Amino acid sequence: MRVGLGHDLHRLAPNRALILGGVRIDFERGLIGHSDADILLHAITDALLGAAGLGDIGDAFPDTDPAYAGIDSALLLARALERVRAAGWRIVNLDCTIFAQRPKLAPHKPAIRQKLAELLAIPVEAVNVKAKTGEQVGPIGREEAMAADAVVLIERTT
Ligand code: MG
Repeated sequence: MRVGLGHDLHRLAPNRALILGGVRIDFERGLIGHSDADILLHAITDALLGAAGLGDIGDAFPDTDPAYAGIDSALLLARALERVRAAGWRIVNLDCTIFAQRPKLAPHKPAIRQKLAELLAIPVEAVNVKAKTGEQVGPIGREEAMAADAVVLIERTT
């Protein structure tokens, strides 16, 4: 078995969709970035690549490459998952935390959990989604940014 860790942070701005874990969330602002800026999927992609010893999301999908401008992060995750599987690994479980001052994420956690299970093709019981505020301090607490952490456990398929 191997474990991988992922972290990501993006800034918030008006006139952007807020997408967390592949789920669109109704909010007056969204995250900005080269792709759709889905911090949770980016953290999970890094955790997966890390567990398999395959580098990071920046190595795999450079943000200088116009091919990835505005790309759905679910596609990046799917490609990373393909690479991890091809290297002979499968996912045991995923745990993750989203850091956001607002909006309240509790009502969205079940939908995000379900979506992550679908994207990773693992049982929903193997996925856990947590949410925390920034206690009104720092870039998270001042609503300048949101962040996400992810930990993935993988095991050999052979
Ligand atoms: Mg990112």
